[in-house]
Amino acid sequence: MSAVVHDALPGRRIGTGWTRPELGSETVALLVAAYLALACNGAFWSAVEASGSLGAGAGAGAAITVASLFVMLTAANWLLLCLLSGGRTTKPVLTVLLIVSAMAAYYMRAYTVYLDPDMVRTILHTDGKESRELIAPGMVASVLTFGVLPALALWRVRIRRRPPGRALLIRGAVLIAAPALLAAAALVSFQDVAALLRNHREIRHLATPGNYLVSLARVLAEDGTAKNRSREPVGTDAHVVAAAQRPPRLLVIVVGETARAQNWGLDGYARQTTPELARIAPINYGEVTSCGSSTEVSLPCMFSPYGRRDYDKDRIRRSESLLHVLDHAGIATLWRDNQTGCKGVCDGLPFESYEHADDPAFCDAEGCRDEVLLQGLERRLDRPGDQVVVLHPIGNHGPSYYRRYPAGFERYTPACRDAELGHCSREEIVNAYDNALLYTDHVLARTIGLLAARPDRQSALIYVSDHGESLGENGLYLHGVPYAIAPRTQTHVPMIAWLSPAWLAQDGLDAACLRERARQPASHDNLFHSVLGLLDVVTSVYDARLDLFTGCRRPALANAGAG
Ligand SMILES: [Zn+2]
Repeated sequence: MSAVVHDALPGRRIGTGWTRPELGSETVALLVAAYLALACNGAFWSAVEASGSLGAGAGAGAAITVASLFVMLTAANWLLLCLLSGGRTTKPVLTVLLIVSAMAAYYMRAYTVYLDPDMVRTILHTDGKESRELIAPGMVASVLTFGVLPALALWRVRIRRRPPGRALLIRGAVLIAAPALLAAAALVSFQDVAALLRNHREIRHLATPGNYLVSLARVLAEDGTAKNRSREPVGTDAHVVAAAQRPPRLLVIVVGETARAQNWGLDGYARQTTPELARIAPINYGEVTSCGSSTEVSLPCMFSPYGRRDYDKDRIRRSESLLHVLDHAGIATLWRDNQTGCKGVCDGLPFESYEHADDPAFCDAEGCRDEVLLQGLERRLDRPGDQVVVLHPIGNHGPSYYRRYPAGFERYTPACRDAELGHCSREEIVNAYDNALLYTDHVLARTIGLLAARPDRQSALIYVSDHGESLGENGLYLHGVPYAIAPRTQTHVPMIAWLSPAWLAQDGLDAACLRERARQPASHDNLFHSVLGLLDVVTSVYDARLDLFTGCRRPALANAGAG
């Protein structure tokens, strides 16, 4: 009795034993590693099961493969956690990882998000408004259950203090033991594991927390080196060779957001989601493939001379864009943005953000609808010289499609009015998505109307979406699935072109020929060269074979036009 009282007095030994166990930091890391492999990798385990790589005989063979994958994942996590934490940093670092992993697990399960470097870059560049839309009650419950609860348990543990030499020795042993354990587990089911990693390489982007930690390190390293380097010049020889009497040209490029061809009225969707454009009847490109399945990939790619056919992310990011080539040629450019910026495409060139504009007609505290981008656009038509204006609307950005259009465009009902798509039926989600397309149709038609009202100018509009969207097909939502395995819904995008009659006549462009060409396959790779061709830019980086217009110039007229 007296011994208990005596122990309690200094306050040191209260709550010892099983309620506050004392463990080495490596043991704590191993327990958290195993917990993460079990509780925060639902998407990984589903993908393993769906891959069909669990041995032909199933049964015992499959169980052994699953067991070795579990040991591999735990060993990999253990290694990472021991590299990132230790001693006094153990609890804070592991707490952050538990909570972030629970969050990641929720999105990977709910939307099949692959946390590769492109996705991590997207997340890092997401603004406050977009992220607020992603905080759903389901996510909060998931983080509390799978992140906060184990973190509270973690803080009950007392980390054993060790003399520095001994601590270093144990840490070193674990840094050797963890990879050895990983290798041994892989050898046990070598056939199945090798087949899985060979045939389904993208599964590694589902293994948490390694997926986001490795991706984050790569993005920070890439962005760090990119920042310290000025862009490699592209097309510095560019100049305009046009007929002497040609009036100034205004080209508006609208980089659409998350519009997919499957729901595009002009592409034959059962619903007429593009009624206003249908009346205008622009040239409609029905077979266009995007460069990426996310804004972060597609945007720099479609404005680069390399495109998807020579895809090299680093080279694209460190090189100048189409807009810089136009600038070299003396053509004024302007980027008008209603979302998260031009992703380096307009670096050093005029840029206007409408994201936080306060026009009460189009904006509220949550942001602006896309018509805000047309403010004062007609005044641009009065400026002398050729110019290119890029409009970057918020388009069909999800998951809150219902926020993208005014009430008058809610034609398809009931529309999902919940940022958590899991709370809506597929029909409601598609209704909201289609309503947002109706509004995009209206914005595009209004833009063309502004240009057409000035027959004294030569003007044109090109609209192309950056990528598509999954609306529940095969359990997928949103976009950003790694390009190699991205479904067609995420890469088949709408594209239109409209040219003023004066422009068509000046270039001797044959409308029937253009419409015929528009039925053939095209891609984001065509944008760079088609824009240069349309604006009579002569440069060594122009490739006529990728110009969607040049093959439709009537030779006699084209020659006369070139003077
Ligand atoms: Zn996008």
